[in-house]
Amino acid sequence: MSKLRFDVVQDAFKKKAVAVETPDARPSEYFGELVFNREKMHKYLDIKTYNALIDCIDNGKPLDRETADHVAAGMKTWALAHGVTHITHWFQPLTEGTAEKHDSFMDYDNKGGMIETFDGKSLAQQEPDASSFPSGGIRATFEARGYTAWDPTSPVFIQDDTLCIPTVFIAYTGEALDYKTPLKKALKAVNDAALPICKMFDPKVKKVFSYLGWEQEYFLVDEDLYAARPDLMLTGRTLMGHASSKNQQLDDHYFGAIPSRVMAFMRDIEIAGYKLGIPLKTRHNEVAPNQFELAPIFGETNLSNDQNQLIMNTMNAVARKHGFVVLMHEKPFDGINGSGKHNNWSLGTDTGTLLLAPGKDSKGNLQFVTFFVNVLAAVQKYNALLKASIASATNAHRLGANEAPPAIVSAFLGKTMTDVLHKLLEVPSDTPIEIAGKKGKSVGLVEIPEIFIDNTDRNRTSPFAFTGNRFEFRAVGSSANCANAMTTLNAAVADQLTEFKAAVDKEMAAGKSMNIAIMDTLKPIIKKIINVICFDGNGYSDEWQKEAKKRGLDIETCVPQMFKAFTEKQNIEMFTRMGVYSEKELEARNEVRWEIYSKKVQIEARVMGRMAINHIIPAALAYQTKLLDNIAKVKDLFPDKYQKMASVEIELVEDIATKITEIRDKVEAMIEERKKANQITDEYKKAMAYYKIAESLFAIRKPIDKLEEVVDNDMWPLPKYRELLFIN
Ligand code: ADP
Ligand code: MG
Repeated sequence: MSKLRFDVVQDAFKKKAVAVETPDARPSEYFGELVFNREKMHKYLDIKTYNALIDCIDNGKPLDRETADHVAAGMKTWALAHGVTHITHWFQPLTEGTAEKHDSFMDYDNKGGMIETFDGKSLAQQEPDASSFPSGGIRATFEARGYTAWDPTSPVFIQDDTLCIPTVFIAYTGEALDYKTPLKKALKAVNDAALPICKMFDPKVKKVFSYLGWEQEYFLVDEDLYAARPDLMLTGRTLMGHASSKNQQLDDHYFGAIPSRVMAFMRDIEIAGYKLGIPLKTRHNEVAPNQFELAPIFGETNLSNDQNQLIMNTMNAVARKHGFVVLMHEKPFDGINGSGKHNNWSLGTDTGTLLLAPGKDSKGNLQFVTFFVNVLAAVQKYNALLKASIASATNAHRLGANEAPPAIVSAFLGKTMTDVLHKLLEVPSDTPIEIAGKKGKSVGLVEIPEIFIDNTDRNRTSPFAFTGNRFEFRAVGSSANCANAMTTLNAAVADQLTEFKAAVDKEMAAGKSMNIAIMDTLKPIIKKIINVICFDGNGYSDEWQKEAKKRGLDIETCVPQMFKAFTEKQNIEMFTRMGVYSEKELEARNEVRWEIYSKKVQIEARVMGRMAINHIIPAALAYQTKLLDNIAKVKDLFPDKYQKMASVEIELVEDIATKITEIRDKVEAMIEERKKANQITDEYKKAMAYYKIAESLFAIRKPIDKLEEVVDNDMWPLPKYRELLFIN
């Protein structure tokens, strides 16, 4: 085995970059080549069908069956020209990743031959026998019907030989069984709530969009080293492994030159992404060794999230061509940074105004401050819920672990906006809010500097940071579907905006002008939030934990417990008011969350037990035997002096024996706990039992990592951190 590890490491080190097949055209020319976008719609649909489809996409007008048939026919012609043979409804069940069930275009032509068919019905709806997807009890398996239904707002695309149709996934009884359905509902809610406010400022506004720009962090590991680590293969993270002598302390990886094998992978993924219409923009090395990041230009949230899911799948496939495996886990390696997926989020109008960026004039600035303050109010009121929306068994390793994010949701404003809010509290409500530099006069004005975006300072410890024209929700996990966080955030903001608009209307009905009504409504909100959710200090510090508690923010660190926020009265009411989730759906989803939590920890615990007993203890025993042989030989030759001469070996033998016993005892105790946990039928209680088991894995790991330091390097069976992290 030791030989094997050595060979694997040598081979991995010798690998060279794989040549990338670069298209002849420029990226802008093949961008969206595999997407049935507006350009293709124009080309492949008659004008009546085209108009009906655009009306459906832009204005939510339903498509009739005949039009759907025409759309399907156009898609089929386009797809066949690309050698497509199959179609699938592509959906996002409550597992990780996406689901697809392929059907070929083939059918009998009733003339003795075969024909390719695809009609509006198969485009619009399918009923996959999806009884094995988690539903939290909504769908008992005996009535396992779940429907997928086409989401025309996210374009159809081609992957390999398959036409993929983005769909929602719902139960026979109407409940959502996926991530997309509630997200779309939350996006509608935020449009419905924000639009009337925008119309006060500009009656021409017809639609408010929610925007998402995700930053996907990931690790790459050589696939042969990966295959030699059962923990990576089965849990996505290393359950053991001593820290490498050198890791990220020199900060030499961050933004460093991209290694050539990795670069080839990145170019390949970009080509694939561009063809799929994903506007990839940024690529760079991240803080930890072998950690990287990929980010697109932001887009409408539903589409951007689909693109994130799609690129995650594509990354896994493309990485293998380059001899890598992508680790999407939030914490693959202990002791160095984990991976997140910052969700850059904002709202904007169809007239091109970004609502979380300073405006062009005092009116625009008042609109900006209105949205800015209401977002903060929503984040304050629903801080526990927002934390629950990013919580998972895997993200738990980052949460509160002295690494972004802390387990307390607070908002970073930066000095500029903090000053603006303070100033607004002092001045009369009719004071214009000006951008400094544009108007010469500044007396009596609340100013926002012109060079605002470049001006904002950064705070890496804040889970929800304002960055000049958007908020960056930095707590989302790298493996997560952004929809969970985006649904919660948009719904919470929608609810707050609705409440705010009603209050403003009341003030205006009492005879106040719009500006004064808005400022008079904003001021008490600013007072309420300025010293609670707003926090620009160090989010990792112990003092902040105490301070946050005093401020009434949620400080829960136990993930199964955090999920309870979803079924708290205030939050059920908010979600139902906004038409995003029913109470039944919220309860069902928590059942799923707890179940997935328990299963993830259960798998880790099993892998840990087996690796400890089958890999680590035998290796330690083999080395111990070698030492004992040595001691025996020394004793043979030097019977009087052997204790002194073999003192190192004797100590090592004792040390190894102690650690082996410790590992064995702890593994046995853990297995006992697992047996007990498995008897529990209540999903919440079971998850709480597994929460304790998750903690106990750290204790088992400790003596193992110490053994790694002691046992002969040649005899250690698993690729070490220094190999996993530095070979690329
Ligand atoms: P960082 O410096 O924070 O790492 P990146 O350049 O990696 O930033 O990513 C920033 C992300 O934020 C990109 O996806 C970008 O398109 C997105 N973004 C920029 N402006 C907005 C906005 N107004 N709303 C939403 N996302 C935005
Ligand atoms: Mg970035």
